[in-house]
Amino acid sequence: MNRIDSIAVATVLLCQVGMPWGIVAPDKNHANPRGAHASEQVAASFPIDEQRLPLSKFNIYRGESHAHSVYTWSHGAHREDSSGPLKADWDQQRYRNYQGPPVKYFERAKAQGFDFFAITDHSQEQPLQPVDPQRNEAWLDTLAAAEQSSDDTFVAMPGFEYSRNPPFDTDRTGTGHINAINVAEYVNAEHMSLPTFYDWLKRAAPAGGDGYVVASFNHPGRTQFHDWAYLDDEIVEFITMFELRTVYRGPPRWDAYVRALNRGWKVSPISVTDSHGYWHLENIPPLTYVLAPELTKAALTRAMRQRRTYTSWAGLRNTQVDLKYSVNGYVMGSTLNRPTTLDFYVQIKTHPDDPDQRVRRIQVLRNHPTDLDGVEVAAEASFDGNEAEITWTTTIEDSVSRYFLLRVHHNSDVRDGVFNKHGSTYAAPVWTGR
Ligand SMILES: [Zn+2]
Ligand SMILES: [Zn+2]
Repeated sequence: MNRIDSIAVATVLLCQVGMPWGIVAPDKNHANPRGAHASEQVAASFPIDEQRLPLSKFNIYRGESHAHSVYTWSHGAHREDSSGPLKADWDQQRYRNYQGPPVKYFERAKAQGFDFFAITDHSQEQPLQPVDPQRNEAWLDTLAAAEQSSDDTFVAMPGFEYSRNPPFDTDRTGTGHINAINVAEYVNAEHMSLPTFYDWLKRAAPAGGDGYVVASFNHPGRTQFHDWAYLDDEIVEFITMFELRTVYRGPPRWDAYVRALNRGWKVSPISVTDSHGYWHLENIPPLTYVLAPELTKAALTRAMRQRRTYTSWAGLRNTQVDLKYSVNGYVMGSTLNRPTTLDFYVQIKTHPDDPDQRVRRIQVLRNHPTDLDGVEVAAEASFDGNEAEITWTTTIEDSVSRYFLLRVHHNSDVRDGVFNKHGSTYAAPVWTGR
């Protein structure tokens, strides 16, 4: 009997006795997910502040921070019409098709060349009940799968999606979905309001004691999260990413992003698939890029906390846009000390074989001085679209704005000489400290 067979048999038995919701747990023989981790000491050795490292110190890593495994049991690719009965041909012994447990996602993501991947199942789903981070089998399996799937070339992270709060918003403190990534424990939004969840996040421990807890606003609407309320100096350092694009749900969430920024949230843009099955993983390349000095969980989650992310969907099926920029020597995502002169240095390299991805325009956007829903163009430059590699510098004099955000239009964003509205690359703002 090979290993996968023995796992299947063992877990079928386990399923019969211990998993009333009927899913086969993939592997119960993994290392203790809560035990000591070899890189536990790594976090402490990082400099407190990586904002001033030269751009050459940062590598670009690509991955996914929002995906659902079969532990999102009520809906997904394992069901007919996404939430009907289980598909008759779903291979729930070996998980070879449609949908499976976290370890299968991590395997596939690694094979596809992702640098990192987070599993973020809905925490109100049946497999995660009752909420018990020390004993719930689906949760322990998620932690263990991440631990055992990580290596020198791939960082797997456990997480959950705080979700399904709308019907339960009895205290009228607002609704919206949030991913908590690299957390050791989890909670259920059905029993926890947004402000209480924010307090929980501030105290949450990282999974395996390794790296940092980080959170993202998921597929936001313009005034969700109680119109971006409950912002304080502490929570702003935990919820540092914003899903500008949820790939299967249409255009960028631009109105929501601008409003969140203008309300004072310091969030950097990411794109996710929010997949509920294998299809996206194998058909859409990772569209979130992270600048970090090395590929470890500590370095990645630190980079996410320090907002060194950008997203590009230029040439969606073969996107490859390498972007780094700095302002006054501070890397993207940084908070400056109230400068009045801002020297931008931007490097962009696009897919060598795809002329559609070449840069046509770079814009620096800043908050509108009075309109909570607006931005202004602070600087821009056009390019002929013939170069796969460009460097651009500009200087902006400004003593009032709160942030500057980078937007890029590519050849594919221009039709008959007209630029489309959104372009297809957004890089983390720098904040001025005002
Ligand atoms: Zn959601
Ligand atoms: Zn989701």
